[in-house]
Amino acid sequence: MTNLNDIHIDTNEVLKNIVNKDNQYTIPIFIPHLGCKNECVFCNQRKISGASSDVDIEEVKKLVEERLKSFKQNRKIQIAFFGGSFTGLDKEEQIKFLKLANTYVEKGVVESIRISTRPDYISKDILKLLKRYNVKTIELGVQSMDEEVLLESKRGHTSLDVIRAARLINLYNFELGFQIMVGLPKSTKEKEIETIDRLLKFKPKQLRIYPVYVLKESQLYEMYKKKDYSPLTLEDAAGRVAEVIGRCRKSNVSIIRIGLQSTEDISENAKDLIGPVSDNFGEYALSKIVLNEIIKNIPKEKEGSDEINIYIPKRYISLAVGPKKANKKYLEERYNKKINIIGE
Ligand code: SF4
Repeated sequence: MTNLNDIHIDTNEVLKNIVNKDNQYTIPIFIPHLGCKNECVFCNQRKISGASSDVDIEEVKKLVEERLKSFKQNRKIQIAFFGGSFTGLDKEEQIKFLKLANTYVEKGVVESIRISTRPDYISKDILKLLKRYNVKTIELGVQSMDEEVLLESKRGHTSLDVIRAARLINLYNFELGFQIMVGLPKSTKEKEIETIDRLLKFKPKQLRIYPVYVLKESQLYEMYKKKDYSPLTLEDAAGRVAEVIGRCRKSNVSIIRIGLQSTEDISENAKDLIGPVSDNFGEYALSKIVLNEIIKNIPKEKEGSDEINIYIPKRYISLAVGPKKANKKYLEERYNKKINIIGE
């Protein structure tokens, strides 16, 4: 007779930090590479580094108005300046954007403003300016806290810059967010775990995490061609992201993005992209998190049983089974038992 091991996985608890973004509308304003004078090896826009803004303020206004009209439900709205190093822009330029965004905050139409920038572009004066215009959230592009990785990636800042910037941002009472990457040159799983552990000490509210893709026309592509850099496999990248997110379980940080947003240039079909590219990277990583949790909950030995029943909330069944049933197959091989994944 078959003895069944029943295991119940509290996926809601496991994935609680992964924010359901449906509770807020974001109006993204992209200012690509604006204000950045750096040459990170994974970035392919260095040719236009330091270029001044050609984002027309009237266009931004039009975009905001259009987006505002399109929102149907009563949710909080945030204007977010993405894509560049906002505080590296000329002060006048920053003020131009902030003033516009702040008019909507003052009218009560928009709840908050977010900017993203580099750790070495934060100072007391900069923070005072952002405060004046009601910026709520500052996202720091950290990428790694390992000096060798930062150097090899030509980030142009050190981990000390991150520490200094994060402390100041907290001191001035902004909401702090971090962006980090897995698979940077000279990085390892251990370095990525150390990075997140060090960053969590600053009690960030939000985290974005990306796997490194090799873009043609980037320095990383040259390194790749010379075999000085090997991108992660999709399997490894998803596994490393899952490990990092696993470290966030006991914190209050919300994981607001896993993997780059798919676009025409960033997709499985894009020919100029090498690395762990998947249009469903986030799903891959989440399914690894669920897999790790299942493994943690399977007792080492249960004599006599030849099947394991894993009960999981219905909405998470596909994450538990994994892409192309990868998790189920892996578990069956690892435990040499039949694995039944059952919704409850
Ligand atoms: S700081 Fe950001 S925008 Fe500037 S080169 Fe690096 S990745 Fe590109």
